[in-house]
Amino acid sequence: MTVREQTCLLSMTPDDLIAALEEFNEKPYRAKQIVEWVFRKRVETFPEMTNLSPALQAKLSERFYLRSLTVARVEGSEDTTRKFLLKLKDGRFVETVLIPASLSPDGERSARQTLCVSSQVGCAYDCKFCASGLAGFTRNLTADEIVEQVIQVEKHSGKRVDNLVFMGMGEPLANYTNVTKAITVLNGDWGIGIGARHITVSTSGLAPQILKLADFPLQVRLAISLHGASDEVREKIMPVNRKYPLAELFAALDYWRTKKKQHLTFEFILIEGINDTEDQAHRLGQAARAQDAKVNLIPYNTVEGLEWKRPSERRQDMIRDVVAGYGVTVTLRREKGHDIAAACGQLRLKEETALGIIESPVPEKRRTISAGV
Ligand code: SAH
Repeated sequence: MTVREQTCLLSMTPDDLIAALEEFNEKPYRAKQIVEWVFRKRVETFPEMTNLSPALQAKLSERFYLRSLTVARVEGSEDTTRKFLLKLKDGRFVETVLIPASLSPDGERSARQTLCVSSQVGCAYDCKFCASGLAGFTRNLTADEIVEQVIQVEKHSGKRVDNLVFMGMGEPLANYTNVTKAITVLNGDWGIGIGARHITVSTSGLAPQILKLADFPLQVRLAISLHGASDEVREKIMPVNRKYPLAELFAALDYWRTKKKQHLTFEFILIEGINDTEDQAHRLGQAARAQDAKVNLIPYNTVEGLEWKRPSERRQDMIRDVVAGYGVTVTLRREKGHDIAAACGQLRLKEETALGIIESPVPEKRRTISAGV
């Protein structure tokens, strides 16, 4: 008998399950029962699926599993941003951040619990301001590892997540297949049930994948990590801009807007001496107006090993006012909670370094980056 790899049920749609159950000569209605146990009742073992025969439970447990993550550490408390460090089954770590309603990252005082999930272990895009890329790229998360972040946090916090942002570790659009599969489960009313309009994919600007996601049938939202409003400035801090310069990125966004009805968001981290000029602010305002995008200004959050810092509050205000002058909706958030969320990636870096999984938190080449370079 050949040994088959086990599959996690958290990445399976009812249709996937119906197909898989045919092997066992089981009727389709069994799939419905199983899906209920998995997503509604959230059982963690097969014997808990009490309306299935012990024989079927045993067959299922040979072929499938239900959990692969463990909560390794939690930082923060009930009414602040809470960071969950989750251990994957290969011993790696990812971070997931729960942002309470009062610190809603879209700047609105909504009553939503937002979860910031990771899509990869590490990141290959090497943005110069970001902790996630410091140790390089390890691997894509599977769809079930993405879904399980939500399940683990809901269990641990007792809160229902109703807003999801792919702003944790990794570049979601570089893991397109698994991310869209996860979104299907996260959105499904048989699954986790988060409305598509409350799921935001954040990207460093992979133009071809933006076109692809535009054709994906769910009405998810898109946030662009812009951080530079001209090729010259953006290229300095985001190497991806050399591959997909702003003209190509904006062309992809033009197409996106023909397909999706919600506003785009431009994320713009303010870094002193890098992108905090009046000229950048004008260009940002123009681009946002042209794309009918909202702008989130994020004062740079210090990353251990990187020398950059945020501009003064006066300068931050100047940039906000210039952008607002273009008739654009702009938010500038200085809340501590958001800083923690934005710095997703730092906790995992510390943990993996302490455990010796990563040799040095900051590779030599990254230590030399400074505001002047
Ligand atoms: N790769 C995707 C998803 C990662 S989220 C993307 O680039 O969009 C990236 C976001 O994390 C950035 O847009 C920014 O909002 C935030 N971020 C990363 N490093 C930060 C830092 N040092 N200070 C503040 N925000 C940071």
